[in-house]
Amino acid sequence: MLRILASFRLRWLWHEWKAEDKLWVGSEVPCNNTDRKLFAACTRIVVGDGAKTSFWNSAWVQGQRPKDMAPSIFSISKRKNRSLRDALHNRTWIRDININHSSFSVQHFREYVLLWQVVQQVALRPGVQDEITWKFTADGNYSAKSAYAAQFIGSASTNFDSLIWKIWAPRSCKTFSWLAIQNRLWTADRLQKRGWPNPATCPLCRRSQESALHLFAECRVTTRIWAMVADWLSAPAIHPRTWQQADTLHHWWSMRAGANSCSKRGMRTLIMLVTWTIWRERNMRIFNSKESSVNMIFERIKDEATVWIMAGAKHLSALMVRC
Ligand SMILES: [Zn+2]
Repeated sequence: MLRILASFRLRWLWHEWKAEDKLWVGSEVPCNNTDRKLFAACTRIVVGDGAKTSFWNSAWVQGQRPKDMAPSIFSISKRKNRSLRDALHNRTWIRDININHSSFSVQHFREYVLLWQVVQQVALRPGVQDEITWKFTADGNYSAKSAYAAQFIGSASTNFDSLIWKIWAPRSCKTFSWLAIQNRLWTADRLQKRGWPNPATCPLCRRSQESALHLFAECRVTTRIWAMVADWLSAPAIHPRTWQQADTLHHWWSMRAGANSCSKRGMRTLIMLVTWTIWRERNMRIFNSKESSVNMIFERIKDEATVWIMAGAKHLSALMVRC
């Protein structure tokens, strides 16, 4: 029943975009953030002049909404309803950011850089209307039936809630994990495809080309770290020697999350923690030319785990006590 209601609520969002002559367009539609996320997953936006696309709330970045990619920047920005066109005009989106905000941190800066890279790629086409298509019907238009069905497709193929969003981790780490699992981090393979500067080899092992799958699942440095983590927790089930070949990082992540352990939720926090620590080490090596040894990275994971447990990661704590 809830899914039927949700599929009808998506129709509001569809009409909000499609039918500007309707009286209620522009007023608040009765949809929550989950509806809007689902709507973003069901639609594809082709940017024209940027007038209809919302800079923060439309999923114009390869199916993602900037507010999900850069939640910290979103939270300290003014005028969250600007169109893409207005936001890009004279770089207004940058001026909207309150950089003097007391919470401004390294995370804000990282998200800012990510967003800036994305914005650099946009070329507005004056006189051409932004278009939206529904991914799940042949004619590209919304239908209640396909919206209903899409919710099942979504729950079967994208288990982000159970892997990430409903699991204990700092918010910035969840956002990072969500980008990583969909292969949306700017790893060398993706930069290369766009012809952008990139590290020639993986900054950890300096042997293979860097991809998300390599960096987090296959790199010999990463597997050494996971082996140390498995020994530390006395959990042979998570040792890399038990891993099977994965096709994508999402595949690898799902397999690790389903590993036989005493706390699946704790395990999922641990995956985010280890992966996040590896990503930060990778960035330190690229951007700061600072390198930590495998032992130091492992110590960092243990320290961070302690901090997370003190901050409330009780399943991670259970994983450590019981395994
Ligand atoms: Zn490597």
